[in-house]
Amino acid sequence: MLGSSGPSIITPLAPFAGSRIELCPGPVFIETPDPDSHMADHDVMEKLVSLTKRRGFVFQSSEIYGGTGSVWDYGPLGIELKRNVKEAWWSRMVLQREDVEGLDASILMNPRVWIASGHVEGFTDPLVECKHCKKRFREDQLLASECGRKPSVAPGQDAQCELGEPRLFNLMFKTFMGPVESDSSVIYLRPETAQGSYVNFLNVQTAARQRVPFGIAQIGKAFRNEITPGNFIFRTREFEQAEMQFFVEPGTDEEWFDRWLEERRGWHLSLGVRPENLRLHEHGPNELAHYAKKAVDIEYQFPFGWKELEGIHNRTDFDLGRHEEHSGKRLEYIDTAAGKRFVPYVVETAVGVDRTVLMLLCDAYREEEIEGESRVVLGLHPRMAPVKAAVFPLVKKDGLPEIAHGIVKELRRAAVPAFYDESGSIGRRYRRQDEAGTPWCVTVDGQTSEDGTVTIRDRDTLDQVRIDASRVLGWMRERLDTDA
Ligand code: ATP
Repeated sequence: MLGSSGPSIITPLAPFAGSRIELCPGPVFIETPDPDSHMADHDVMEKLVSLTKRRGFVFQSSEIYGGTGSVWDYGPLGIELKRNVKEAWWSRMVLQREDVEGLDASILMNPRVWIASGHVEGFTDPLVECKHCKKRFREDQLLASECGRKPSVAPGQDAQCELGEPRLFNLMFKTFMGPVESDSSVIYLRPETAQGSYVNFLNVQTAARQRVPFGIAQIGKAFRNEITPGNFIFRTREFEQAEMQFFVEPGTDEEWFDRWLEERRGWHLSLGVRPENLRLHEHGPNELAHYAKKAVDIEYQFPFGWKELEGIHNRTDFDLGRHEEHSGKRLEYIDTAAGKRFVPYVVETAVGVDRTVLMLLCDAYREEEIEGESRVVLGLHPRMAPVKAAVFPLVKKDGLPEIAHGIVKELRRAAVPAFYDESGSIGRRYRRQDEAGTPWCVTVDGQTSEDGTVTIRDRDTLDQVRIDASRVLGWMRERLDTDA
C-alpha cells in the first residue's frame, strides 16, 4: 500500500506439483497492470453480482436507503462461504501448527501505534481535486477514472475540467474516543490487523511459552477510506483480513520467506482454485516499501484483470524496532539457552478474506448447456460450499416429506449444512442448488418407502447414485474429508 508503482516482476505459477514451489526461470519485466483494467469482463461481474444477490450471498449495505459507498453485507449463503474461508485459513495457519498462536486484538488502538507504524504520516494516496465537479481522483489512476461530467471522460480531458495540485489524503478513518471531540481524543479505525500482533509480541510469546521462530495469527476487520473502491467486494472500505506475523532470528528470514510463500500458495490451491488463475508477482525496486527486504504478491486472474490477493512480506525488524522506539519498551527476544538476544525479523502473510471469497465465486462461476437447456453453476469445492446437501421429496405426499426432513435433521445435527426443498419441479430445484453451489442433491422417491434408498445427484458430473438413506451422512463426510 505504501509502495509506489513501477515496473513489476511477474512470475507465472508453474502447475501445482505437490508442495514444491516452482518459479519459472528468468522473471519477465512488465508494466504494472492498470488498477481498473479496461479489458474488464463486466458481463461476468454483473452476472455474479446479480446471482449473489438473488441467492443471498452478498447485498449492498443499507440498500433501502440507496446503499453506502463500497460496503457490502453478507447474506445467509455468503456468511457461510466466508466462514468456510476463515475456518480453512485458521485451521491451516493455527490449529494444524505448533508454531503459530491466535490473537484477537481490538480495532481501536492507542493512536501512538499508528504514528509508530508510519500510517499517520505515510498511509496516503496523492489526490487531485477538480474545482468544477468537486470530485477527487487518485493521481496515479487519472486515466482509469471517470470525471464528474456526463458523458464522462477521464478527469482533465474535458475543457471544463479544472484539476488542482495533487494533495496527500490519509486512508485511515478517524473518530473520537470519549465525550469530547478534540484533537487529543482522535482515534483511528485500524487499517490492518498486523499492528495488534506487533504490540502483543511479548505478551503472546511469554504467555504461550513460544520460542522464536513462531507466529501470531489474526482474522479481523480493517477499514480504509479508499478513494477508488470498486469491483464489487474486491476493494471496499470495510473488509476482513487474515494476517500472520512470523517472528524469526535475523539471518533465517529469507529461508522462512520462501517457506511461507510456498505454504500460502498451496493453501489457495487447496480451496479448489484453478492453478492457471494464480501467479506470483515479485515487487521490483520501485514498488518495494522502504522497510521491506522482499515482497511477493499472490495474484488471481479476476474477470477485471490480474490483481493482488495476498502479500507475503519480509518486513525485517522495522515494526518491532519502531514500536520499541515509540513506546520506550524493549521488544527483543532473549534466547537464554543460546545466550543471544535480538529484535526478531518478521515475515508476514496478509490475505483479504473478502477478496478470497470473490476469487472463489469468480473461479466457480460457469454457464453450460445440458441436453438443450442452459444452467448456471457455482462449482465451489464441496468444503467451501455454503450448503453441502439439498434434500427433496419427489412428491409432497406418501410420507416422503417426513423422510426428507429426517435426513436434513440428521445432516444438520452432524454440522453438515443441509436444506429442505419441496417446491417446484425437480429440474427447477436442481437449478436453484446449482446456482447456490450445493454439491449434492438427495431425492427421496417412491422406492425410498419400499427399500429405504435415496438418490444422490452430483452437481458437476450429474451422475446419480442410489444408496441407503442411513449412509447419506457417511457418504458425504468421506467426500468432504478429501483434498481438492
Ligand atoms: P492493494 O494494493 O490492493 O490496495 P495492499 O497492498 O494495500 O492492497 P495490504 O495492505 O498488503 O494490501 O493488505 C493485505 C491484503 O488485504 C490485500 O492483499 C488484500 O487482499 C486485502 N485488502 C487490502 N485492502 C483492501 C480493501 N480495500 N478491500 C478489500 N481487501 C483489501
